[in-house]
Amino acid sequence: MVRIAIIGCGIVGASIAFELSKFPELKVTVFDKQPPVQGSTGAALGVLMGVISHKTKGRNWHLRETSLQRYETLIPELEAATGRKIPFNKQGILLLCSEGEDLSKWEKLAATRKSQGWKLELWEVEQVREFCPHLDLNHNIIAGIYSPQDRQVDPTTLTLALVDAAKLNGVNFQFGVEVQGIKSGQDAHPTTNSLSCGTGILPVTENSTNPTINLISCGTGILPVTEKFDRLIVSAGLGTAAVTASLNQLVDIRPVLGQALHLRLKNPLGNPDFAPVITCDDIHIVPLANQECWVGATVEFPENGGEVQANAEMLEEVMARAIALCPALAEAEIIRKWSGLRPRPEGRPAPIIEALPSNSKVFIASGHYRNGVLLAPATARSIREMILQ
Ligand SMILES: Cc1cc2nc3c(=O)[nH]c(=O)nc-3n(C[C@H](O)[C@H](O)[C@H](O)COP(=O)(O)OP(=O)(O)OC[C@H]3O[C@@H](n4cnc5c(N)ncnc54)[C@H](O)[C@@H]3O)c2cc1C
Repeated sequence: MVRIAIIGCGIVGASIAFELSKFPELKVTVFDKQPPVQGSTGAALGVLMGVISHKTKGRNWHLRETSLQRYETLIPELEAATGRKIPFNKQGILLLCSEGEDLSKWEKLAATRKSQGWKLELWEVEQVREFCPHLDLNHNIIAGIYSPQDRQVDPTTLTLALVDAAKLNGVNFQFGVEVQGIKSGQDAHPTTNSLSCGTGILPVTENSTNPTINLISCGTGILPVTEKFDRLIVSAGLGTAAVTASLNQLVDIRPVLGQALHLRLKNPLGNPDFAPVITCDDIHIVPLANQECWVGATVEFPENGGEVQANAEMLEEVMARAIALCPALAEAEIIRKWSGLRPRPEGRPAPIIEALPSNSKVFIASGHYRNGVLLAPATARSIREMILQ
């Protein structure tokens, strides 16, 4: 029996837990300082931009392709296992190109996707108008790119379904448990550290004869929880830097804020038989059931590497641009506004999926920045391959 600890239960940690839960030889425990889906995942729009992204080769395309393929089986598998209905929009993504956009790069991408076995269509403005009568294409829109095999999923329902399905397969979830740090190898003194847990140190021990990780974490600050693990997976999003800092391993992940809105429309939007995600200049209009939709998101970087506060004007700008595209949104009722922090690796490409150089028993699955929902299934598969190799 291999004992696995997963720190963090957003979409990434939950996906890994479910993936590993299928292997009876693995005993998996997931820790999160909060209830599930309170981090970045709870703020996400769930748009899965795979085929329509400009990544065409290497790791980044491979992860996207793996995830898109897996989503087609994962959603029905989770629905059957848990009885939850997971909102999953299979009508694709329609990207609107503004004046000045180089359409030849899209033609090239469509040809590449065809050679890879995926579909991407270039639409004239008239075709966009025919399929999406609710859009105002008078200003600036010169073409549409339709990606029928890209998807959108409700990230919260999906994560909760992953947790339920993993529980059914025997995974132990401990919510309200904050892991405060890791201490490696020879330095780790489990007994002492279990007492010093409150000071924020969490030991990992590793030796060649009996490689175990002593993970000691604090509940709500009262009693320390002490357990031994053979492997540790850090999928703590923005919390990853703090958890790994005590290993003298800088996994520098910083926040990029995003704001979005949930709207209720007065009338059905456009064509009832064709409701893809509409995207233009980085703004998404995500159709939902019951004449509702999400609009977002802003991309707000912290100044001087510090904290980032939501900028109300930037959200207004997103809404104004969405209304220019889809005038019916002007009449919509705003049900909710929210913001979240995307975990972005500093100075290196997203995401980070690797064993820590200083400790081969500790794996990082973090820093998914703007595509954590898209890349979660492929991340889970990569981690499973590393664990079972
Ligand atoms: C507005 C917005 C829109 C987005 N839209 C999309 C989209 O359309 N498509 C897409 O693919 N992605 C989107 N994203 C990005 C996506 O949300 C993230 O990439 C993804 O949620 C990251 O998942 P995660 O599991 O790594 O992190 P999180 O969801 O942040 O989960 C990390 C978890 O770790 C826990 N944790 C942290 N530290 C500790 C600790 N010390 N001990 C215990 N637990 C700890 C936290 O409580 C949290 O639950 C969007 C993000 C935002 C903000």
